[in-house]
Amino acid sequence: MLGRAELIKSVLHGVECYWLSILPIPVGVREKVNQLCRNFLWSGKATVNKKPLVAWKEVTLPKHEGGLGIRNTKAWNKALISKTLWDIQAKKDSLWVQWIHQIYMSHVNFWDYKNRHEDSPLLKQIVALRDEIIETEGSIENAILRLNQWAPNGQLQSRLAYEFFRPRIAKNAWSKLVWHSSITPKHSFILWLGLKDRLRTRDKLQDFIEDLTCPLCMAENENMDHLFFRCQEVYQIWASIKSWLGISRAMHTLKAAVKWLIKEARGTGFPAKFKKITFACTVYYIWVARNKRIFEGKIEHPEAILRRIQIHAYRSIFSLFPDFRPEACNLFD
Ligand SMILES: [Zn+2]
Repeated sequence: MLGRAELIKSVLHGVECYWLSILPIPVGVREKVNQLCRNFLWSGKATVNKKPLVAWKEVTLPKHEGGLGIRNTKAWNKALISKTLWDIQAKKDSLWVQWIHQIYMSHVNFWDYKNRHEDSPLLKQIVALRDEIIETEGSIENAILRLNQWAPNGQLQSRLAYEFFRPRIAKNAWSKLVWHSSITPKHSFILWLGLKDRLRTRDKLQDFIEDLTCPLCMAENENMDHLFFRCQEVYQIWASIKSWLGISRAMHTLKAAVKWLIKEARGTGFPAKFKKITFACTVYYIWVARNKRIFEGKIEHPEAILRRIQIHAYRSIFSLFPDFRPEACNLFD
């Protein structure tokens, strides 16, 4: 899934860049592009429409605001067109810019230019963008200051302009941990869905299914907190993992556990990384065991799940610290 997100980023931020920077993309086309990307992200095929677990407007937020960092096409289009806006107002030495100045702005400054009916769509869009920046910044002087900030070396950097145009929400506290480089990407992804409360546990499917029983213990109804912490089967796994990591704290919800872990697993040393890796890994393998039981009818003993988690955690840590010898030190003193 994350591989697909990376692929979408490379296309949207790369190849398509050329078109986005010379053309104001019509709403219909933009919607179609978004739809293809959305389908591809959730189903693996651009033409197959699978109900997304997370809304596209959330997916296209940066990771620190809870998204996957795929760019918002509308804002990215504006950021790229800003490059042309910059070239015009800076009277950049190019034939096209000189032509624009001679034809359209021979008697009027770019900042005072008013659109005419017969102007090209690109010029109209540039002037509309100019007005949007002026309106947000409060005056032409402030708009010029803002533009200069996007061009620290005399060349407009669309990445900086994108920050201005993109939708934003408050930063969230857990992203840093979820997307930590030491955590296996597919584990990050499940943890991300879990923290956004988008994993489809049975309580969320009440309208479609009758049996809401937890597939692991078959004793209580399944919801996020039950499945990941309170379930008696999972409880055994956590007990072993926590004693392995030297953690004594009780954990009841994913959000609270992550909040605590962020403080607990500070720093870049071995124990901090090991705790992050193992926590995300445990959440992931609980989810996998649950799905195996539902969709494949396979029952995995908690001991087997635990072993899987430990093997994965060791593998990850050896790839980060090749010289690490578990028997040589007391891990979590
Ligand atoms: Zn259960």
